[in-house]
Amino acid sequence: MTQQLWTAVDDYIADALVAPDAALEDALAASAAAGLPDIAVAPNQGKLLMILAKLAGARRILEIGTLGGYSTIWLARALPADGRLVTLEVVPAHAAVARANIEAAGLGERVEVRLGPALESLRALEREGEAPFDLVFIDADKPNNVHYLDWALRFARIGTLIVADNVVREGKVLDAGHDDPRVKGVRATYDWFARQPRVCATAVQTVGAKGHDGFAVGLVTD
Ligand code: SAM
Repeated sequence: MTQQLWTAVDDYIADALVAPDAALEDALAASAAAGLPDIAVAPNQGKLLMILAKLAGARRILEIGTLGGYSTIWLARALPADGRLVTLEVVPAHAAVARANIEAAGLGERVEVRLGPALESLRALEREGEAPFDLVFIDADKPNNVHYLDWALRFARIGTLIVADNVVREGKVLDAGHDDPRVKGVRATYDWFARQPRVCATAVQTVGAKGHDGFAVGLVTD
């Protein structure tokens, strides 16, 4: 009953506040048709990402973990016409679906989907002088979160927003002895934020269509 209720409330929120949107709905349908897992952010979460990017005045966005480009489309819509978003994806089939979805959403000019292990792509982005980024959204393999956070800070300026998804994991985050490397990665995410004097951070747990989870947000202040 609980999950049913959370999903029903998410549907209510989306019906009320997230206008029907062919590009986003087509992106989800194409992702499902291609067999991608159903692990994109929910519509109300995607819209929150767009609002955060607008609040940050983002002109340059980095996303780690593309899947079919659903969150990418939301984030890219916050950009001005000359803005740029780079999104990193390791699975070729995911990157191919994402590219098609982003193109169909009319955002191909603003978005680069970079294929390869994110840690390699991040090194390449540094060599190419792509930083700074105004918002970094971390939503890939959780065991590498701390490395992604290090890169996010390296690529930051004062005012950069760092957002990390899935930081509650149905409450498993409470278990210091949990043997799931994703849970360990998420606990390390909190430790990382807690020891950064340059980052003002918090996390919010959420329930909804995607279950009981949450996201962490850090503002680079120094
Ligand atoms: N942000 C997407 C959304 O909300 O629409 C969902 C991303 S999904 C949760 C995580 C993605 O990260 C998957 O497509 C997965 O293949 C990718 N990924 C996992 N490990 C990665 C790595 N080391 N480098 C780049 N991408 C990775």
